[in-house]
Amino acid sequence: MTKINIHDMLTSYDKKNLTIATVCSHSSLQIFNGAKKEGFKTLGISVGEQKKIYEAFPLGKPDDFFIVEKYKDITKYAEELREKYVIVIPHGSFVEYLGPENFLTLNLPTFGNRKVLLWESDRDKERIWLEGAGLTMPQEIKDPKDIDKPVIVKYYGAKGGKGFFIAKTHDEFLKRVEKNKSYTIQEFVMGTRYYLHYFYSPIQDNAFPLSKGSLQLLSMDRRDETTIDEVQRLGSIQELEELGIHPTFVVTGNIPIVMRESLLPQVFDMGKAVVEKSLDLFGGVIGSFCLETVVTEDLTFKVFEISARIVAGTNPYISGSPYSELIQADLSTGRRISQEIKFAARKKLLEKILT
Ligand code: AMP
Repeated sequence: MTKINIHDMLTSYDKKNLTIATVCSHSSLQIFNGAKKEGFKTLGISVGEQKKIYEAFPLGKPDDFFIVEKYKDITKYAEELREKYVIVIPHGSFVEYLGPENFLTLNLPTFGNRKVLLWESDRDKERIWLEGAGLTMPQEIKDPKDIDKPVIVKYYGAKGGKGFFIAKTHDEFLKRVEKNKSYTIQEFVMGTRYYLHYFYSPIQDNAFPLSKGSLQLLSMDRRDETTIDEVQRLGSIQELEELGIHPTFVVTGNIPIVMRESLLPQVFDMGKAVVEKSLDLFGGVIGSFCLETVVTEDLTFKVFEISARIVAGTNPYISGSPYSELIQADLSTGRRISQEIKFAARKKLLEKILT
């Protein structure tokens, strides 16, 4: 990995003229809207005709576009982008389109700790992090022969739940599995899903206190996943499976949700533990992150995944959520990110939140 010298990059920056930039997709409307509310210039990195979509949303439209032929080209334009004092806000599609290697070596100041990618993209390391923090994860079934209850089979690197499947027996697993792909088998946790959107600031002490900095809960969502979430319209899963129709887990949207208030202490305990462990392991998960959880009938959480940057599940809350409204009116995750950058720029702490 090329050593990125954030200090040198920032020395040439005019801190009063920073530009918030991201790839035009995923949560970019929210990111631009939040940045504008905080008084930043905004730049949308885009391929082709996507610009037109933004014409329809003036308050989410970036001030300028930076058109590239393909997203991987962004690396080639790093110098040009630095001349615009660009700070990059990564989101899931940004990392995917650019490719993890290019993202890790991109020579642009980037919000958050890029090292986290190595810990969330490797399912073994992710488990070391989350279980090391004391969180309960779904049991992992190492040998498919040991399948004796419903499991979910996840292919490595599959995006948006693509190809994942449920199996209840070893035979069912053998019928469905694509042997040439790497996979992991997890206990299928019965319960209700909550995707929790946190924000960790290592430089501000105005929220739930941690050993260094503080933690906020900005919102939560439930993903809308096709076809699993609508499959019952056609019959029971069993009936459909017999016809060779298998439910899938492809994310198509996000639904706002709140949880019973008595669960919030557990939500903060989990968030705190994840951040504290990340500080030990790789210097901290900075800014937004999301724990993907199932609440079981005994009201405990099982965490099946972490996303260590802004997630699309924050999009329903461009003008605030039932939680962020209790912090500040009209506060989205996108806006919170820009606030953190503004605060850090004013206090000369940018190197603490950018990598
Ligand atoms: P993931 O890629 O790990 O986020 O998983 C995609 C989707 O599969 C999730 O959004 C859930 O709906 C479902 N899922 C993942 N892991 C589990 C699990 N262990 N138990 C039940 N459902 C799960």
